[in-house]
Order: sequence, then structure tokens, then C-alpha cells
Amino acid sequence: MAFTLGMAIAAMDKFNALIEENKEYLTDLDSAIGDADHGINMNRGMKRIVEKTHSKEYADFGGLFRDAAMTIMSVVGGSAGPLYGTFFMKLGQKLGCANEIQVENFADALREGLSGVMSLGKSAVGDKTMVDAIDPAIKALKENASEGDAAAWNAAVAAAEHGMKDTVPMIARRGRASYLGERSIGHQDPGATSSYYLFTCFRDASAEN
Ligand code: ADP
Ligand code: MG
Repeated sequence: MAFTLGMAIAAMDKFNALIEENKEYLTDLDSAIGDADHGINMNRGMKRIVEKTHSKEYADFGGLFRDAAMTIMSVVGGSAGPLYGTFFMKLGQKLGCANEIQVENFADALREGLSGVMSLGKSAVGDKTMVDAIDPAIKALKENASEGDAAAWNAAVAAAEHGMKDTVPMIARRGRASYLGERSIGHQDPGATSSYYLFTCFRDASAEN
């Protein structure tokens, strides 16, 4: 089995819908340790991404994720725009002209995306950011790829959820939350939460198509 271009397009649709559904929650999380705009930012960005992707036919992952990257970077002013934009851009560059890929190799491409985020954000695992959900998810996806796609995606989602929850006791070291120092302890990171949603969307799109 494999991850296909159709699944990637469906995953973007699902991510848009899930963000829309949870935009107040994301903004509430960001109001505790940031500036209360993560839900608004992601909602604006994903809405524009699906408007764009629905207006075109794609031949490969590279084209799809490049459009997603350019769109979110151009419409989202907060950190999430450049960070998710870089993630999608590097992911698309690694996948290039493929339109179907083994899940294990998709994990490698996601890793490229995450490396882009970490170098742009100067962030590491444990800094209380989106990295803390994405890194364990990719690890689990790769490690469980031989168990079959469904098992691999389920493991990735479980790891992302765990990583997201693990941000609660962390002290923020990057982004606006870091201005709070120890007062950031006890709150879940908004970006880790939206990144967990993204992995649930990859899993659900993979299961349905
Ligand atoms: P802003 O912080 O500009 O208001 P958002 O609220 O949309 O942007 O996004 C905040 C999220 O972005 C944080 O919860 C965190 O997960 C992520 N983030 C912020 N700065 C960094 C960074 N330097 N590296 C990785 N992720 C970051
Ligand atoms: Mg914010």
C-alpha cells in the first residue's frame, strides 16, 4: 500500500474542516500562552489553501504542497504561516514529481519538512512547540511502516497526541510563549495541537481512499 496524491488532497480538505471546527479551542490555547490568534491564523490559511487546491488539477505531490506552502505563507502573518509554509514546502520538494509513495518514504519526506521548521524556528524537541507533536509522529510512522499503513498511521497519531500532551508541563523556549518563562508551564501548546490534527487528517485520508 501507499500514500497517494488523492489522499494528500483529501487530507488538506480534512485539515481545513478540523481547524474550522476547533478554531475557538486553538485560539483559547493561544490566549493562555500567546496572543490568541492561532485558530484564526490556521483557519484563514487552510481555507485559502483548499480554495487554491480545488481550483486546480495536480499531477504530483510537489505541485500540491508548493501551492499549500505559498498560500499559507502569503495569508498568515503569525509564526504559523512561515512555519507550516516551510513544512509543506520542504515536504513537497522531497516528494517532487511522485503521485504515490510508500508510507515509509512519506515519513522521510515529512522529516525533511520538520527539519525546515526546526531550522527556521531554531527549535528543538522539548521547546514546547509544534515540533513536539510532529517529531514523535514521524518516528512512529517510520518505525511502524512494516506493520501496514493503517497500523503505521494509527501509531503516528497516537505519538502526535502524546507529544501534544507532553507540551503541557514544558517551559516554552521558542515563540511568544517563551516570553512567559515558567508561567508557560501547565498549558498545552497551540501549534502542537494543530499539528496533531494534521496527522489525524493524514490517517483518516489514508484509511478512506
Ligand atoms: P504567533 O506566535 O506569531 O502568534 P501562531 O499563534 O499562529 O503564531 O502560532 C503559534 C505556534 O507556533 C506555537 O504554539 C508553536 O507551536 C509554533 N511556534 C512558534 N514559534 C516557533 C518556533 N520558533 N519553532 C517552532 N514552532 C514555533
Ligand atoms: Mg499566536
